[in-house]
Amino acid sequence: MQITIKEAVKTTTAENNNNEAAMLRAKLELLEQTLQKSETKFNNIFSQSKIPLFIADNKSRFIEVNQAMATMLGYTVEELLAMRLPDIINNSDTFNRLQEELKRKGFLYDYELTISTKNDHTIDCAIIANITYDISGAITGFHGSIINVSSQKKVESALQESEARFRALIDHAEDGIMVHDLDGNILLANDQETRFFGYSKEELVSFKMSDLLPADKLQDHKEKHWDNLEHGKSDLFETMVMNKNGTICPTEVRLCKMDFNGKPAILAVTRDITRRIQAAEALRDSEKKYRTLFENLREGVVISDRNGKIVFANDVFAGIIGYTVEEIIGKTSLDFAADGYREIIKRHIVAQRNGIVGHYQSNYKHKDGHTVYTAVNAGPMFSDDGEYEGNIICYSDISYRVKAEQERELLLKDIQEVNKKLEQSNKELQDFAYIASHDLREPMRKISSFGLLLKESLENTLDEDQQENFDFMVDAANRMQLMIDDLLSYSRLTTKAKPFTHIDLNEIISKLNKVDLAERLAETKGNIVVPKPLPPIHGDPTQIHQLLLNLVNNGLKFHRPDVPPVVTIRAAIADTNTVKVEVSDNGIGIAEQYHQQIFAMFKRLHSRSEYDGTGIGLAACSKIVSRHGGEITVSSTPGEGATFIFALPKGSYIEE
Ligand code: ADP
Repeated sequence: MQITIKEAVKTTTAENNNNEAAMLRAKLELLEQTLQKSETKFNNIFSQSKIPLFIADNKSRFIEVNQAMATMLGYTVEELLAMRLPDIINNSDTFNRLQEELKRKGFLYDYELTISTKNDHTIDCAIIANITYDISGAITGFHGSIINVSSQKKVESALQESEARFRALIDHAEDGIMVHDLDGNILLANDQETRFFGYSKEELVSFKMSDLLPADKLQDHKEKHWDNLEHGKSDLFETMVMNKNGTICPTEVRLCKMDFNGKPAILAVTRDITRRIQAAEALRDSEKKYRTLFENLREGVVISDRNGKIVFANDVFAGIIGYTVEEIIGKTSLDFAADGYREIIKRHIVAQRNGIVGHYQSNYKHKDGHTVYTAVNAGPMFSDDGEYEGNIICYSDISYRVKAEQERELLLKDIQEVNKKLEQSNKELQDFAYIASHDLREPMRKISSFGLLLKESLENTLDEDQQENFDFMVDAANRMQLMIDDLLSYSRLTTKAKPFTHIDLNEIISKLNKVDLAERLAETKGNIVVPKPLPPIHGDPTQIHQLLLNLVNNGLKFHRPDVPPVVTIRAAIADTNTVKVEVSDNGIGIAEQYHQQIFAMFKRLHSRSEYDGTGIGLAACSKIVSRHGGEITVSSTPGEGATFIFALPKGSYIEE
């Protein structure tokens, strides 16, 4: 460069006159000195610069390199001066591209490339270069500096990694994260916010917060939260936001003031609390339901904790034991136990702690001292992870029931005693009736038979009145004898009862026809009709015989004048256990008002002059049927006959 200027000056000198040449020479010397100084300065700067510098000719050969360059590449300055730039660029394509760009632009700025050191290490570098020209404008080469950017690169890539991590963190966060400036312009939004609001990230960062907040909330936000937010401090609150489809959602927001890209901004971390609010509402609803339920329950309800301490009691329970709810809370059920019930209650508490649901009776002492009887349903409560948390216990006041039960038992005892006495007196009465009728029978028979003998021996000695009186006496004695006989047979129904056995009713009827009622049948020209064979029954043979005898006899006896009696006997199996029997006649019938009365002892509807009898027959029939587990009834229309209906135990067709 020095040579070029000198030559130029010489040329100029030759062309000028001598005077001017002298002045010019002086100026030239000054210039030379200045140039010398500048060159020295340049050389100093070049060689001492800590920045690697080089000058290359148009063949890319290094013609100047400084020590910093040599040090960076591990060569000596001399070694480098024997090399070309492409020798330190490990990829020829890179060099070609660099060269092209340099030629095209005339300079390179921060052109990034990788170079190799002498010991084959690669260094990330940025090259700054300018093309050099000679005075005629021809390219003489280029010069520049190569800056080691490895550590910067490392920082950058670490920054990028950290940025990527930060991004990933933000995008994978369950909470929505947004940054907006103090005017509400959204600067950043994470994936969760896009899901929550339904907008893309691009849309979100083109919005203002006013696009996401219901109109009435924006001012509130600004005044309450943004403006007063101190740097570094956060503010947590609940608000409403509006998503893309216009739904207003409850959201929990944490705001924090921060710097974003060098400007103050607000970081908003949002959380959709719709579910939490719904759950809280559901909980409130359910609590309300349970509270209403508890309050309206007619049962006392108590909830105790794991130590047995009562944490909840409803008014009903308070009412049962006479304390206020406040007096009950904090106590244990043992504190209210009636005497003798502490141990029982304790046992049940232990059982419940082991997961056993208990139904038992436990008695408590009312505040006024009386015992309260309760039926208890108690069960344990466990947390979601299976830990015992306490008991829930329902109490029904059964004092009324227990007292009624106690009274019933007392009453039952009384009844049993009365019954016992009654049975005793009945037995005595039966014994008396039996003994009386049995013992009276003989003297009566004697009166009656001796009366007859006396009547015969006194015949023709008595006047008409005396004769009539005598007849009355004998007749009365006979009737008395009949009554005693009937009474005796009635009392025998109990005293001489026989075990039940198989009975063929057909045989009994046949016997009635041939023996017992033969005379009555002949006398009345009556008939006994059995349309269908009668099924077997199971009973006391003597009593069943007497039953049918009495009924058929009555059927023949109470016949209509001039109408020969017909007594019809029907029997059919009613169900698996019983046979229904009907004894009907075509006689005088019975008025409805007497249908019950006729079964009472000594009840007769006619005078002796009309129909003989003692009034014991149907009472005996009723007793026999009842002893066989049934009931006898009559159905009749006066003048059209009567039907006696009753059920007897069914017998088997196979002889027992
Ligand atoms: P009695 O010895 O008079 O027959 P019962 O006890 O057998 O006594 O009958 C009571 C009364 O029931 C009878 O006096 C009679 O008035 C009435 N009675 C009984 N059976 C019949 C019948 N088949 N038809 C009409 N009345 C009857």
